Amino acid sequence: MKLYSTNNKDLRVSFKEAVFNSMPQDKGLYMPVEIPQLDAEFIQNIEQYSLPEIAYKVASTLLEDEIPAEDLKALIDDAINFDAPAVKLDDKTFVLELFHGPSLAFKDFGARFMSRVMAYFLKDGEQLLDVLVATSGDTGGAVALGFLGVPNTRVTILYPEGKVSPIQELQLTTNGENIRAIEVKGTFDDCQTLVKQAFADDELNAKFRLTSANSINISRLIPQTFYYFNTYAQLKKQGLKDVVFSVPSGNFGNIGAGLLAYKLGLPVKQFIAATNVNDTVPRFLESGVYETRPSTQTYSNAMDVGAPSNWIRIMDLFDQDIAAVKKVVTSYRFTDEETLEGIKELDNKLNYVACPHTAIAYLAVEKYRIENPSDESAAVFLSTAHACKFPDIFPARIAAKIEIPEQVKTLESRPKHADQLGVDFDGFKAYLLKG
Ligand SMILES: *Cc1c(COP(=O)(O)O)cnc(C)c1O
Repeated sequence: MKLYSTNNKDLRVSFKEAVFNSMPQDKGLYMPVEIPQLDAEFIQNIEQYSLPEIAYKVASTLLEDEIPAEDLKALIDDAINFDAPAVKLDDKTFVLELFHGPSLAFKDFGARFMSRVMAYFLKDGEQLLDVLVATSGDTGGAVALGFLGVPNTRVTILYPEGKVSPIQELQLTTNGENIRAIEVKGTFDDCQTLVKQAFADDELNAKFRLTSANSINISRLIPQTFYYFNTYAQLKKQGLKDVVFSVPSGNFGNIGAGLLAYKLGLPVKQFIAATNVNDTVPRFLESGVYETRPSTQTYSNAMDVGAPSNWIRIMDLFDQDIAAVKKVVTSYRFTDEETLEGIKELDNKLNYVACPHTAIAYLAVEKYRIENPSDESAAVFLSTAHACKFPDIFPARIAAKIEIPEQVKTLESRPKHADQLGVDFDGFKAYLLKG
């Protein structure tokens, strides 16, 4: 797989280069030059395959000239070692549970695959790889747990003070070893800006081998396509073929992966991009004007993104044609009040307790069905995190139903450590230069 930059279609880099650079010098994003089609026979018989088998098929279609088959197979079996069940809630409604990995969020797919790809490409004796990552909550935990103990790597996580949940903070700050956490006095966008500035800084680049673990890294996008195919397989097994996916969206990496799966040949009727009031994309699809805004804090804090970094990938997949995007992507936004109502409604109607991000995806399905009464597709809304990561949001009656997984209980006894920094780049740079 060769990749170009969304800002320079003549550029050609290998997958390995794209993984370690994370972002091209021209500040575009890497995209595959060619998107191969999965063979039709595989799609027709997809229900016969398991998640790791589907993952291998999809990954090898993209990466066969980059990672030999046996190595890729081993890498996938190690990275994708947990399930992604599409749980049936009623005849035509499913929740795709993506929170069965170590950090209890879908980002485990991307982070675990990426860390193993990087470790695979790192040669013995090479310079330490410094991973810089900004997180609004879930990325940090997934990346920390994904890289923990991976030799020859160091991870620096920036998170906004007071804007991540207690369990998320534990996942960020109790690791030690090759993981360090920085609590930034600012928003997620501030954290992301600091990371971007570091990547653009000559002095830092001369001294360190920097790489990003944010959803802009192409190696995070690829494994997120796996569960779209696997869900289609699970539904097909039940005789359902027309599928609508509703994706709770912040930086638009998850839905970007869904759209990449679609371009690889996955039959999908419609994607619904569900956002909170950070609604840059729904506004864009309505007005045609792309206007980013500073992020607003909401209950669904992993989606508090005013300038979604993967949106340019989606426009690139559709050759900048808004009309073509709108044929496949519907987008709705919901307020915190609506999110709470959605949580209650899901509990009442379908007896399911969902995290606030997931509840927004559910609300978007409801709205889509009202607006498209003739579409009888099965609807799958993605559950991107376990409800226990957001304990303060639920009414007591619903909170009481949430089971705390084992992964969390062990974190609580560990010592916490985070360094504190402001939003100025000079402070962050000095911190990094200290080593
Ligand atoms: C990261 C995250 C999202 C948003 O995903 P994007 O790929 O950034 O659109 C949604 N929900 C949860 C729980 C997340 O952690």
